[in-house]
Amino acid sequence: MIAIDFSWAIALYAAVSLVLVFSVWVFTRKEKEKEVTIEPKFIWFCSICTYTYINTKEDTISVCPRCGSYNEAHPDRKL
Ligand SMILES: [Zn+2]
Repeated sequence: MIAIDFSWAIALYAAVSLVLVFSVWVFTRKEKEKEVTIEPKFIWFCSICTYTYINTKEDTISVCPRCGSYNEAHPDRKL
């Protein structure tokens, strides 16, 4: 069996924990960047109050969350 000092065991444990936390942080950061990217077809512009909002559920008509009016899909946007 390998005999190591107690302080070395603590140092090794801390180093392994730091590497684990760092790798988890890098992994989750990349996942969040993927979620943030949104297709332009989900971005809606309200024709009444000029509010810009995101609606990923509707395709042709969407309700403005600010003024409650119905908005048609922009003609030149890709569906
Ligand atoms: Zn509106």
